[in-house]
Amino acid sequence: MYDVIIIGAGSSGLMCAAKLISLGITDLLLIDSNTKPCRKLKMTGNGRCNLTNLELDTKLYYTDDIERLDRILSRFTVIDTIDFFEKTLGLKTVHKDELVYPRELKSTAVIDVMRLFIPERCFALDSKVKEIRREDSRFIVVSDKEYIASNIVFATGGMSYPVTGSDGSGYKLLASLLDKDLFVPVSPSLVQLRSSDRDIKRLSGSRFNCRISLTCNGNFKAEEKGELLFTDYGISGICTMQLSRYLEQGRNIITVDFLENDEDIIRSCIERFSERETCDALAGVIDGVLTNIVLKRIGIKKLVKRSDIDRFIEELHNFEISISGTNGLDNAQVTRGGLKLDCLDDDLQSKDIPGLFVCGEVINVDGPCGGYNLQWAWSSAFSVSSGILRRIG
Ligand SMILES: Cc1cc2nc3c(=O)[nH]c(=O)nc-3n(C[C@H](O)[C@H](O)[C@H](O)COP(=O)(O)OP(=O)(O)OC[C@H]3O[C@@H](n4cnc5c(N)ncnc54)[C@H](O)[C@@H]3O)c2cc1C
Repeated sequence: MYDVIIIGAGSSGLMCAAKLISLGITDLLLIDSNTKPCRKLKMTGNGRCNLTNLELDTKLYYTDDIERLDRILSRFTVIDTIDFFEKTLGLKTVHKDELVYPRELKSTAVIDVMRLFIPERCFALDSKVKEIRREDSRFIVVSDKEYIASNIVFATGGMSYPVTGSDGSGYKLLASLLDKDLFVPVSPSLVQLRSSDRDIKRLSGSRFNCRISLTCNGNFKAEEKGELLFTDYGISGICTMQLSRYLEQGRNIITVDFLENDEDIIRSCIERFSERETCDALAGVIDGVLTNIVLKRIGIKKLVKRSDIDRFIEELHNFEISISGTNGLDNAQVTRGGLKLDCLDDDLQSKDIPGLFVCGEVINVDGPCGGYNLQWAWSSAFSVSSGILRRIG
């Protein structure tokens, strides 16, 4: 019998436990199917963990209840998060522009400071929760053993990267206790994009610094600047992931501007090396494979005429890639959808079942790259810990 059982020893679960312990609530158990906590957190920020963002903007999140989200993010802000990590847990942080990282640039440092703050006896690892029943005002949690608690926290994550343990079983457990209408269908967000355009396969492995924009069914959605990576399935890179958030059913087109302000260099190279084939004339300026693809798209073999050069430049400014889909939840950094935020109060306690709390990605909240999703994990865990403190007193 515990005061609190937290299902999921991932980012939000560990933060919730650490915060509860800092508030003097120690009769708690963290249950996880993995043998070690925070498998997903370990992978974040390419192993460096971009743990929050100094310029966090609530409007950039997707959710069903933006006002509640704003209140929850304001209760435990980015500064509160950095303070808690630094002053209570002992993690030094650094920032690169607005992105905040552990000083060691290692996600394991973030995991270690939380894990070391929580006594060993609070962990039940390698133990998958299969069922949760309510008896009177208590919860019976069934994994390899049966545990009883007066408060339960779902910190089970979403469905992205299911190999890390967040395999969607949290939704099923929640759905066994709550109304089915309270869930928004899940889909991948922050994910690589697939394309069946044959010509771009030849660019596989190439990277370009460029500006890309997304148009869905003829309507402009958003644009990003950064490194675009071509792969055997389509395109990747942070700018691609960011635009994947706006994808819609129907026709999705990514338009790449490879040039920005480099037009004059192209014109002068073509003039200067006019005896060479176009791809050789531009060898020092543009990837030869890209030059040949663009020439083929505009149906010109060699650039000589001014009007042809103009068309070539125009195509480099507006190079279209049709998107056929995404790499799915298995490869997505975050899950869109989940339990509606609106069915929870500001402590993230169910409005229907007292003592049932939820935090992290399992809730219908997702943000862009850049520390947004971890900040949600931290802030939501804080709200839950405040709610539990209020109940236990
Ligand atoms: C490759 C990658 C890079 C990322 N980089 C960043 C980044 O740099 N910055 C950022 O802000 N966000 C990043 N994210 C997103 C961020 O990691 C997640 O949003 C965040 O970890 C979610 O925290 P969570 O606690 O909700 O879930 P998780 O951290 O996924 O934890 C859920 C835990 O619950 C356990 N669990 C689930 N079901 C059960 C069950 N039935 N029984 C027992 N245990 C269960 C799982 O094993 C898991 O340990 C990244 C994600 C990925 C995949």
